Amino acid sequence: MNFEITFTPEQQEFQIRVRDWLKRNMPKGIEHPADPANLTRGGYEKQRELGHRLALEGWLYPTYPKEFGGGGLSPNEALIIEMELEKYDQILPPYYDSGGKLAAASIMVWGTQEQKSIFLPQILKGEVRTWQLLTEPEAGSDLANIQTTAIKNGNKYTVNGQKIYVGSSHGAEWSWMLANTDPGGKRHGNLSWFIVPMDLPGITWAPMDLIFAGNENGALSGFKNTVYFADVQIPTENLIGGENNGWQVADTHLEIEHGLMQGSLLGDHNLRRTLNACRKLKKRGNPLIADPSIQEILAELYIDSEVTRLFHIRIHWLRSSGQKISYQGPQAYLQMKRQALRAAKHTQDILGPYALVMDDKLSPEDGFIEVQQRGSIVAQHPGGTVEIQKLIMSRKLGLGKPSMKYGSKH
Ligand SMILES: Cc1cc2nc3c(=O)[nH]c(=O)nc-3n(C[C@H](O)[C@H](O)[C@H](O)COP(=O)(O)OP(=O)(O)OC[C@H]3O[C@@H](n4cnc5c(N)ncnc54)[C@H](O)[C@@H]3O)c2cc1C
Repeated sequence: MNFEITFTPEQQEFQIRVRDWLKRNMPKGIEHPADPANLTRGGYEKQRELGHRLALEGWLYPTYPKEFGGGGLSPNEALIIEMELEKYDQILPPYYDSGGKLAAASIMVWGTQEQKSIFLPQILKGEVRTWQLLTEPEAGSDLANIQTTAIKNGNKYTVNGQKIYVGSSHGAEWSWMLANTDPGGKRHGNLSWFIVPMDLPGITWAPMDLIFAGNENGALSGFKNTVYFADVQIPTENLIGGENNGWQVADTHLEIEHGLMQGSLLGDHNLRRTLNACRKLKKRGNPLIADPSIQEILAELYIDSEVTRLFHIRIHWLRSSGQKISYQGPQAYLQMKRQALRAAKHTQDILGPYALVMDDKLSPEDGFIEVQQRGSIVAQHPGGTVEIQKLIMSRKLGLGKPSMKYGSKH
């Protein structure tokens, strides 16, 4: 049976148009360093420049309504743009904007008309880059335990607290932040979401020292930060979804993060690079790829990669045909996380210590393979760990605790 996505003649024409457009509009020298930590300021600015150019066509956030700065396009057309960008090792948006993706979706569902018309165009036209600020030292998997407080005083909220593992290199204009607006209140009934301009007085951040941060589905976040809030004054207009209603809004945010924003429909770059390395490197005069024992491992890698892709094709199909997505999101995310670890192990089995060195001469594939080794371990955590994906799946399937509601309030 053929599960491939097919495009209509109009969509094929659109693909040619996008391809031609990218040839003319891709900023020269746009970077894709093996280690996202090496993304330069100039490289980041080129990503933003590409974002602006895409936005003028409505292609930065293609499926959002035109009235808010999106393109009003279908999921297939959005996929076409991503497929063409992938040829340049770029994704959509071409800069790390996880907060933008998740805030925009949440504002679409929970924002007032006024908030939609103020906040959405700035995200969707690439005028701002937005970080997502959820995790804290005592609130990771246990997200309901948020300790950062946002206490209302008149037309402002005073925010105090700390977020960890957040953001990227090269700063952000905004953040999409979850805070506790009723510290003595009921668990799950005391959280609220805010759009936070990052230049407000009292906000500071510092990079964290981690073994790796930030491929995040090709978005090159670079590194993660600790962000501190000291008596930060946020206007009440920036509260999204109502005070103490944050757990419901979080459902929308997390539903999208758990499997609905992955670029895994596209090619598997790690697999491609491992295959390349096996073609180039030799063992007793023969390329590794000619060795039957290595071919066997490569077949395993390929099958696993295909399973991930097929899970994501299913999500794309559900989304394109307007069906509800339930356990399939976390299922795909879980498979992707586990596959990353298995792929790293298999790659090490094939390449041995070469897979672990970052060296101009010795690293296969310009260091991308070494980065994959570190990245696969780290990838087990963002957006909810492997165990949390299993928990969400079982709840969506109605096992154990009562099934979680769908994120959308519609
Ligand atoms: C590269 C990277 C990028 C990130 N980006 C962001 C970001 O942009 N914004 C943001 O807000 N956060 C971000 N995070 C944080 C991420 O969401 C958290 O690391 C994650 O939710 C886990 O929380 P924790 O690290 O506190 O681990 P913990 O919650 O302390 O978990 C520790 C271990 O216990 C297990 N565990 C916990 N609870 C259960 C349970 N109920 N059942 C079974 N096992 C359980 C977990 O699976 C894990 O193995 C990022 C993290 C990383 C590593």
